Amino acid sequence: MTGAPRPRPEVLRIDAYVGGESKLPGVNRIIKLSSNEGAFGVPPGAAAAYARVAADLHRYPDGGSLGLRRAIGARFGLDPARIVCGTGSDELIQHLCHAYGGPGTEIIMSMHGFTMYQVAGTYAGSRVLKVPERALTADVDLLLGAVSAATRLVFLANPNNPTGTLLAPAEVARLRRGLPPEVLLVLDAAYAEYVGRPEYDPGVALVDAGDNTVMLRTFSKVFGLAGLRVGWAYAPPGVVDVLNRVRGVFNINLAAQEAAVAALAEPGWVERSRAHNTEWRARLAAALTDAGLKVWGSEGNFLLADFGTVARAAAADAALRQSGIIVRSMVPYDLGHCLRITIGTAEECTLVAERIAAFMAGPRADG
Ligand SMILES: *Cc1c(COP(=O)(O)O)cnc(C)c1O
Repeated sequence: MTGAPRPRPEVLRIDAYVGGESKLPGVNRIIKLSSNEGAFGVPPGAAAAYARVAADLHRYPDGGSLGLRRAIGARFGLDPARIVCGTGSDELIQHLCHAYGGPGTEIIMSMHGFTMYQVAGTYAGSRVLKVPERALTADVDLLLGAVSAATRLVFLANPNNPTGTLLAPAEVARLRRGLPPEVLLVLDAAYAEYVGRPEYDPGVALVDAGDNTVMLRTFSKVFGLAGLRVGWAYAPPGVVDVLNRVRGVFNINLAAQEAAVAALAEPGWVERSRAHNTEWRARLAAALTDAGLKVWGSEGNFLLADFGTVARAAAADAALRQSGIIVRSMVPYDLGHCLRITIGTAEECTLVAERIAAFMAGPRADG
């Protein structure tokens, strides 16, 4: 035997996740609209809590995140015993795939679902099936049609990233009813706070109704703490038990726990963020439509704008970069003719709309 250590073969089938970029060489002022972070920065109370904790950093955090789970429970009306915190919801996605998937099993997601499901599922050794959508929206009949005896998990981001599309509660319930009881349904509601439909349920009712549905949430979007990495699951007791066996013992660091509790307590933060997002999502969509683009209806804090061809989307991306504006290429999602644009501040939305309108009116939009 010669040579270097080799990982399990499925590891090398994973394409490393490409996050939104944040720097452009030679550009001083960057407008970053590439990762769906909240428009208003860090909640002031969370920044203060983060600073306060500096004197205590020699202490281990509470491994059970009890204070944070209690605060989440109080805020959302949930039993803290049914909540598990993760180092971002990404950590929980990883653990669910490893704990319930593995070699010989299958994991189902929709064609343009969140790529972390594919990364985590492949790493776990599962076969990840990407099921076609209708109008960039997950289709319950097609998802159910992909189920086999090997299926262990179904992931649904609702609203979905990067498409912004939403499945109605009756459709999500029909998905759950159609799945075998031993298949775990993971409802990823990272953008729940931005949804404007009164009938929307991020998944609480389905989690409560059985022992095979999990809801995932995050502090990375509306709560403005993406850099601290905090997510959480609301899950049936059996899944809570599994996650607590496999998660990092001190997975939520001290600063993250304190800041997240303070973010939940920030007065009016979510309401103000949601109102801003609803207003500027509509304004930006209208401006981009006026500029000649097709814009998908979004329930999140981002828009998916269709430039018609991959070449035109790439040229628009390049033009935006020249103005210091970073949006998200959709090439890794097989939607290379689209760009995903996060709803930023009023000024940022105005600037990106102006720049795209100028691009569409110019010669490079012909490609
Ligand atoms: C942003 C996002 C998350 C959040 O991930 P974290 O690890 O909590 O930052 C989860 N799911 C989807 C669909 C997302 O877009």
